[in-house]
Amino acid sequence: MARVIISAGHSPTDKGAVVGDLVEYDLTRRIVDELEPMLAKYPKLELKRIPEGLSLPQKILWINQSGYTGENNDIAVEVHINDSDGTEEGVECWQAERGDNASKDLCTKILDAVCKESGLKKRSVKSEYDHQFRRLGYVHNTQTISGLFEIGYMDHPKDKEILTSDAGIKKLATGILKGILAYFGLKEGEVNKDPIAKPAFPVHTQPDQYSVPFGITPPADSAPSTMPSTMPKGVASPYSSTTPSSYPMRPRVQGAVPSQPIMPTMPMSSAPTMSVATPQEKQEEITRLYQKVLGRNPDAAGLGYYANSQMSEAALMKMMVESQEHQNLIKAAKDYVTVKGQLERLEREITSLRSRMADKDSEIQSLSAYLQEKSRELSQMTEERKASTSEDNVEKASRENGRMKRNDNSHGNGTPNHKPKSFGVFEMVKKLKK
Ligand SMILES: [Zn+2]
Repeated sequence: MARVIISAGHSPTDKGAVVGDLVEYDLTRRIVDELEPMLAKYPKLELKRIPEGLSLPQKILWINQSGYTGENNDIAVEVHINDSDGTEEGVECWQAERGDNASKDLCTKILDAVCKESGLKKRSVKSEYDHQFRRLGYVHNTQTISGLFEIGYMDHPKDKEILTSDAGIKKLATGILKGILAYFGLKEGEVNKDPIAKPAFPVHTQPDQYSVPFGITPPADSAPSTMPSTMPKGVASPYSSTTPSSYPMRPRVQGAVPSQPIMPTMPMSSAPTMSVATPQEKQEEITRLYQKVLGRNPDAAGLGYYANSQMSEAALMKMMVESQEHQNLIKAAKDYVTVKGQLERLEREITSLRSRMADKDSEIQSLSAYLQEKSRELSQMTEERKASTSEDNVEKASRENGRMKRNDNSHGNGTPNHKPKSFGVFEMVKKLKK
């Protein structure tokens, strides 16, 4: 038996878009209120509606605890309403992953039927990877074949007319019904015909090939294809009954999960943990991880991406550690150590060059002192030589006188007191040679 989960986008605490007196959550509930009894007329389609008041993580947990799976061709459809600047109009759908898969098939069938039924402009089926959050928890982290539908623009006159009239709401609900029937190979009114039990397309395509912010590459095991398709053994799901009376009641405490005590604990390695943290807690956790791993606060895109991905803290941390940004940080740290080493080596070289320069300085000083000493000696010797030369002259003059006197009294025996003229220079060279 094919099984269908329907839900109205947003919650009493997160009402979605608000344009004038129009509130997205009010409109999505109106459409799903209209759709629910229409689908209930098909006993071959088991129907569940996600209780109002659950946050997105709680909805994902609720779906994954329902026992509904893509392999069984079970589907989940959530209704949202778009808004922009008043110029955009029509219907668009967000499929899981990318390419031809069962989610795209479901989205295409519903998009075609809603536009045909209501006359709203047909936009397109888009890959969640092209969404600003890079992936959408409702379609990415649910085990069912899921589609997220943006049915019309609240701020476009034509769309608003349909969204705010009973006839318009009925057309939209009928369109969704016909799309779901078409997906299961049924026509309107074929209430007892068996729906197609196997998806016509693979449940998963390109589970990992999406662009993520800041060069962060998702780890291979973050793909939803590895999520357990069945409940852990021994854990009873409160959602397996087909009677509406067994639906969990709206939580009395804001943010609490109705089934807290029997929440399954999924093994960390095989599935993202379906944390039920409040958006505030989730943002704080993400900011703390950013600071821890990347040393900075996340920007808006990063916060949106991680808050929406519903990843466990461990998976998130792993993704950040494996990110390009983190690799760059490590490389920068290594570069710093290398450069610091080079700087220290250069500083040591400079110090040794400085001390060698100081050595040379003192050598030059002592050489210069030696030269001064030599120069002083040289001038002293020159003085001595000058003095000796004038002595010689005096002697010579006196010898001349003596000879003249001796010429008077024939050959005298006068012996001149002779000093070698070269003595000064000879001594100087000898001293320098030392
Ligand atoms: Zn919305």
